[in-house]
Amino acid sequence: MSFLAYQNEEPSGTPAQQADPRENLLDEHNTAAYRASVLQGVERVIGELTGRDRPTTGIQPEQLEPETKRIDLDSPLRDTSEALDELEKVYLRDAVHFHHPRYLAHLNCPVVIPALLAEAIGSAINSSLDTWDQSAGGTFIEQQLIDWTAGRIGLGEKADGVFTSGGTQSNLQALLLAREQALARQETNPDTGWQLSRMRILTARDSHFSIVKAAKLLGLGAESVIPVDCDEQRRMIPSALDAELDGCRDRGLIPMAVVATAGTTDFGSIDPLLEIAGSCARSGAWMHVDAAYGCGLLVSGKGPSLTGIEHADSVVVDYHKSFFQPVSSSAVLVRDRETLRHVTYHADYLNPERHAEQRIPNQVDKSIQTTRRFDALKLWLTLRTMGPDALGGLFDDVLDLAQQAWEVLHADPRFEVVTRPELSTLVFRYVPSADIDPELCDRANLHARGALYESAAAAIAETVVDGRTHLKFTLLNPRTTRDDIAEVLELVAEHAGRHLEENDTTGLEQRRAS
Ligand SMILES: *Cc1c(COP(=O)(O)O)cnc(C)c1O
Repeated sequence: MSFLAYQNEEPSGTPAQQADPRENLLDEHNTAAYRASVLQGVERVIGELTGRDRPTTGIQPEQLEPETKRIDLDSPLRDTSEALDELEKVYLRDAVHFHHPRYLAHLNCPVVIPALLAEAIGSAINSSLDTWDQSAGGTFIEQQLIDWTAGRIGLGEKADGVFTSGGTQSNLQALLLAREQALARQETNPDTGWQLSRMRILTARDSHFSIVKAAKLLGLGAESVIPVDCDEQRRMIPSALDAELDGCRDRGLIPMAVVATAGTTDFGSIDPLLEIAGSCARSGAWMHVDAAYGCGLLVSGKGPSLTGIEHADSVVVDYHKSFFQPVSSSAVLVRDRETLRHVTYHADYLNPERHAEQRIPNQVDKSIQTTRRFDALKLWLTLRTMGPDALGGLFDDVLDLAQQAWEVLHADPRFEVVTRPELSTLVFRYVPSADIDPELCDRANLHARGALYESAAAAIAETVVDGRTHLKFTLLNPRTTRDDIAEVLELVAEHAGRHLEENDTTGLEQRRAS
């Protein structure tokens, strides 16, 4: 239908409209168009970087949605420049700038240039990492990065793993392997449904919600994830874990996995990995470490230690969080490569069993994806250009900044700060005096976040701690300074303070009475 429409179109004379659609393909005939196109894109990005001094524009969904919907996807512009002009209106102009020093909201990092170069190369060649016959050298580059990461963790000689789309997928795959390993050990009763109903995953209350999602996807019941209590530093309490493990044993349940977090999303807290490893060894539970955020410590020169992580059965790392890589770049690693057999399926057209016998390396044998981006290339070019120490140095800068930011917050009587950060997040609350109604204080803090977004002065996050609204900085930009932090806090205090003044009805009554 659309092909016919294209054919029947009146030739209006512009070269773009008459062009053969094959001129859009990347091949040896179109190298000039390729170069010109990509350079135009680079120029647009540079225009955004240099043309805006704020992390957001304060745009609201109701403003942007009609702009996007107005565009008729069936009426192409047939001109790169015009299409990019349109893209500016619906995307580039208001996109959130993670590289801005006052973007302090979520776990998004500014990205390093070698990784961007690799994105451009990887997308152009478009290797698919599922099989050797679709990737050739890409397979070995990915494998080398997996081995390198496993080596940094200390997983040992039999370690292996695979790149994934992100921590959520990595956690799902790790827990799938854990479930299969646990099932394989339950030989006495072949009723899988009954076994699944007894499976339990133990994880700290503050762990990532992808663990609960994974449990659901794995066919485990609503009760399957047991939350373990945390200490004041928001780390899993080992004795609480042991008590829950004992409870599982007493009730005839199967503790299929313990998920420790190395860097919780809210607090950056690192669970006591060594103690947890001991508990796993005693109970036979699979030890999974979610280091989606804390993996930056693998290249850091300072920062807290991850001792104990080397005992894990599986580890998740998000290079797109603390290795300054563009989304997506993540991996799941396992101590024993044999466990990856649980995701190995053979298709005659793709990865026949014969290939395994011939030792043809097909990464699809280890992955829950089939067609898969060559995301490893970004990290490879980063390591080959910058090296791990330079990368770790960037992460060290944000660890330093987080300590400075904590000092600023801690010294300011208007703010409460929940924990002293181990990594680079700060969770705090504007509470100018102890007798303020906590609900009103919640609203004042939320208001400050919204006002900052609307004024586009900074982007910060919110969360809830013990039932109360808190604000959150996630620091991943080495260019953010102590002054940035202090000035953003001043703005928070101003906005929240004004909200309190305008809405504090007790104060109002007092003023009326006097
Ligand atoms: C971000 C995060 C995840 C999820 O990773 P995605 O890459 O966003 O899917 C899992 N665990 C922790 C601790 C995280 O911080």
